[in-house]
Order: sequence, then structure tokens, then C-alpha cells
Amino acid sequence: MINKPRGTEDILPVDSPLWQKIEQAAREVCASYGYREIRTPVFEDTALFQRGVGDTTDVVQKEMYTFEDKGGRSITLRPEGTASLARSFIENSLYADPQPTKLFYLISCYRYEKPQSGRLREFHQFGIECFGGTSDATDAEVIALALSFFEKVGVKGLKLNLNSIGCPVCKKDYNEKLREYFGQHQDKLCETCHTRLEKNPMRIIDCKSEICSAIAKDAPKMIDHLCPDCKAHLDKTLAYLDAVGISYTIDSSIVRGLDYYTRTVFEITSDALGAQSTVCGGGRYNGLVEELGGKPTEGIGFAVGLERLIMILKSQNSDNLIPQNQPRIFFAAIGDNADIEAQKLVYALRQKNCYAERDLCGRSIKAQMKYANKLGAAYSMVLGDDEIAGGKAELKNMADGSVQIVALNPDEIYDIIK
Ligand code: ATP
Ligand code: MG
Repeated sequence: MINKPRGTEDILPVDSPLWQKIEQAAREVCASYGYREIRTPVFEDTALFQRGVGDTTDVVQKEMYTFEDKGGRSITLRPEGTASLARSFIENSLYADPQPTKLFYLISCYRYEKPQSGRLREFHQFGIECFGGTSDATDAEVIALALSFFEKVGVKGLKLNLNSIGCPVCKKDYNEKLREYFGQHQDKLCETCHTRLEKNPMRIIDCKSEICSAIAKDAPKMIDHLCPDCKAHLDKTLAYLDAVGISYTIDSSIVRGLDYYTRTVFEITSDALGAQSTVCGGGRYNGLVEELGGKPTEGIGFAVGLERLIMILKSQNSDNLIPQNQPRIFFAAIGDNADIEAQKLVYALRQKNCYAERDLCGRSIKAQMKYANKLGAAYSMVLGDDEIAGGKAELKNMADGSVQIVALNPDEIYDIIK
């Protein structure tokens, strides 16, 4: 037998209704905020992620599914959505529309990570991006959308943690301070962080190694070194959040895994998740569109890990576990004539968008009724030669056992069971 690849999951029919509910909530919240769906390819030119995600990140250094195709091109399965959307924004001249361009996506992502709880090699994200929104209100809108989504899905006990990681101007001075600080601990840093110390010391703050993160705890904080413009931007963003009663915690350890972030970065976490506690990560990435060859364009967005969201929902209560699709009626048939009649009735009801069911496995009449019960049919009807001859049959309400005689007419049956 061939099994699924390590770090992947089958989403089985029993769980699909929960996925559909989450996707539906995403679509509805996005519609009320004016975000429109975009679908981009599962694979892209490797260079897109090297440039767009940043080649000092864990994602690019360790986690990408990269391969050469038959034409000798280097191809990578998307590890995230933002770089693809920025590419599409530029390539399709979406900047020519009235700005901002508000987009959302529901996608699968691929990262070669060590599989564990909440960490898969194929996982799914709901995310949004707002390109070209120049007002500070954009940051608050994006954060509010994320929280509205979680509220609609019915997840409780989430925390919003927020930080500013400044702009290239303030980052430059800050990086010097970080180099000085981490330089004192250089011999203890992990190998990857040795190169980061030179190229991008802020990445060390995001390192997953225990020793590096312990050292990072006492590192200088970006939030204490913001330039006046970045400080004003942060204050304004917080004022917008305060205005709509959104509470947050400033967490200076958030620098986010990807290189393109500037200013606002945020994470939404849940205690229900254990070590992988972040269910949503987002931030501003003013340099990204330009980095990918477009005109300088402001950008901000977030991505929610849907497997992690489902883990939280399942841990919190079973209300969220949606009832399965159950037949409104099951037709049990005895004999060939009844079998044809059952076929006609299920067909006619299904044409009315009514879930009607019949046996497809040649069961005995007793076994057909047992099957109807298992499926959770709301009503049942037994068809035999007498019923066909008389043109009517007993319609049984499965919940209370009550019966009534009805004509073998799909419209009449539908009026009762709908
Ligand atoms: P982490 O720190 O947990 O590795 P990240 O910073 O790499 O997360 P992002 O790139 O910001 O994650 O992705 C956004 C969200 O996607 C995460 O908050 C998480 O919910 C989800 N996610 C990321 N990687 C995985 C994965 N390997 N398996 C499942 N979900 C993931
Ligand atoms: Mg990661």
C-alpha cells in the first residue's frame, strides 16, 4: 500500500463541513471589507520566493520545495501567498485600478518542515493583502478583518500581539545595535545565526533555537529605536484600534519570519495550540512590490493557518463541529417495481435540491431500514407492490415514529419533508 507523504493530511468528509464553514466565514468577512478573491499558481519561479520572502529566512534557507522541471527551470511550490500576490499585482497591472487593491486567498502551502502538532509540510492558509493603502487606517482595517473572521468562526480566547519593526531608515541604526549586542554572544549562536549576524541580525530574534532565543530576550528592542515617522505610524495605528475597542499587547519579540516586513507586525495566538501557538501572522511590507520590480507600493496583510485554527476549534467545543449532511428521506424498496419507483422519487426530489437517498448495495428490507437510521434520515418510506398499485405509502417521521399516508408524488412528499 502507498501512504500519503510525511507531513500531509487527508481532509476527510467528516471534517469537510468544518472547513467549508471556515471558508464561508472568510468569504463573508472579506466581502464586507471589500476584499476580492485571487487565485495564483501552486508553483512559481524559485527566484520569486528568494527575492520576495528573503534569502536569510528559515523558509528560503531550509523549507522550500524546490525542483528543476523538465525544461531546466527552477520551480518552487509556494511556501506562502504574499510574494505570489505581489507578483500578480505587478504582472496584471492591478495598480492601475482605483487603489487600494484589496485581495484575499484560500490556498495550500508547502514547506519542508519537521512534521509535528500544528506543523505540516502541506498546510492551508486564509490570507488577505491590501496593496496601495497609504493611510495608517489600513493597518487597523487589516487587523480588524482578522479579528472579525475569528469572531465569525466562533473561536475564543485569542490574543493580539503587535510590534513595529521600523523602516529601512531606523532599521539601519538598530541593526548596528543588534550586531554589537549579538556580537558579544557570537560563540553561542547557532550556525545559521552566525551568517544572520552579518546579513540580517534581526532574524536572530526569530530563531527557533533555544540558546539563540534566550540570548535574544535581552537584545535591544526595535520599538525603543523607531524613527519619528515610524513612531507616529505606530501611535496612529494604535489609536485606530482603540477607537473600535480592539485590545492588543505590544510584544517586542515579534519580528516575523519573512524578510519583507516593515513597521507594523502582528501575531494572533491561542493557548490551545501548545508550542505552535500562532494561528495568524501578518504585517506591513512596504518594500516588497518594489523588490519584485514594481513601483514603490505600500502593502499589508496577514495569513491564518487553517489546520491550527481547526485544532483550536476542536479543543474548545463541539458546537463548532457541524452536523453532517443527512437525508431528508430514505426510500426502502421491496421488489423490482418498487425499486424503479424509489429511483424515480429520489431523482425527482434531488432535482429540487432535497437530499433523498436509497439503497445501492442490494440490502434486504431490514438492512435498508438500518442503513436509513445510520444515515440519520429525517423521514423514511417503504415501497412494495401494494404501495405501487395503490399509488400511496406510509411516510414515517424517524424522530417520533409518527406515520401518515401520502401519495407517491414527489411534490406532495416534498411539501411535508422539506
Ligand atoms: P511559525 O513561527 O509557527 O513557523 P511562520 O512565521 O513560519 O510560523 P507564517 O509564514 O507567518 O508562519 O504563516 C502564517 C501562518 O501559517 C502561521 O501563523 C501558522 O498558523 C501557519 N503555518 C505556518 N507554517 C505552518 C506549517 N508548517 N504547518 C501548519 N501551519 C503553518
Ligand atoms: Mg515557520
